[in-house]
Amino acid sequence: MSERRKYIVGNWKMNGTRDDLGEAAAIAEVASATDTVDVALCPPATLVAPMADRLAEFSIGGQDCHHAEAGAYTGSISAAMLRDAGARLVIVGHSERREGCGESDAIVRAKAERALADGLDVILCVGESKAIRDAGDAERHVTAQLAASLPASFDSARLAIAYEPIWAIGTGDVATVEDVVAMHAALRATLASRIGDDAAKIRLLYGGSVNGANAAELLAAANVDGALVGGASLTAVKFLPIIEAAA
Ligand code: PEP
Repeated sequence: MSERRKYIVGNWKMNGTRDDLGEAAAIAEVASATDTVDVALCPPATLVAPMADRLAEFSIGGQDCHHAEAGAYTGSISAAMLRDAGARLVIVGHSERREGCGESDAIVRAKAERALADGLDVILCVGESKAIRDAGDAERHVTAQLAASLPASFDSARLAIAYEPIWAIGTGDVATVEDVVAMHAALRATLASRIGDDAAKIRLLYGGSVNGANAAELLAAANVDGALVGGASLTAVKFLPIIEAAA
């Protein structure tokens, strides 16, 4: 029997203004009544403080942080700033940052280490492109990415891994349950080779076009401990069925 509680995390990406705080409140209300599932929302940085101020009991996260503690990094946000704004966690290594902002495994690892040091839990994303999957190299690529992005040391209760095939993000093209199970088993084995038995404590989330219709099947699969959800987390009407599927 797994001790891992299901974990459903919404990533609002570059969407949302204060007008959308009501959606977050509706999501938080159901989340607080669903005591078998952990739920978090990662709004854009501008909404972390207003959301945290309004929803004090709810888990709110950033979508990225800088790897440095502080300094001359115009436009960037530090882990300590997110924490000060009320965030409890941060996503690092999302493919939209790895690909769109040229973030290497080493940078992602440094961000994860900084976030943990500054009091934020971490969701570390990995995933392959369509070309890599079509070449039959997905498992090798993603496990190597994980090995190179993992912090040097960490508390397994404070780190979750999100497997997000790039070709499945925002496309409606969901990975098959078989492929997710195979990848999550490979990720678990990679973690075990690094930290031994504690690997069993780390939650492995799937991300990529998860919605109310496909969540139950994905969340029932072996080693799928939750979901990282983009588009379907923007409104309560779309996100709540995913939380309910996890319960
Ligand atoms: C994501 O942004 O992490 C994501 C999985 O997006 P979507 O659910 O829209 O595919």
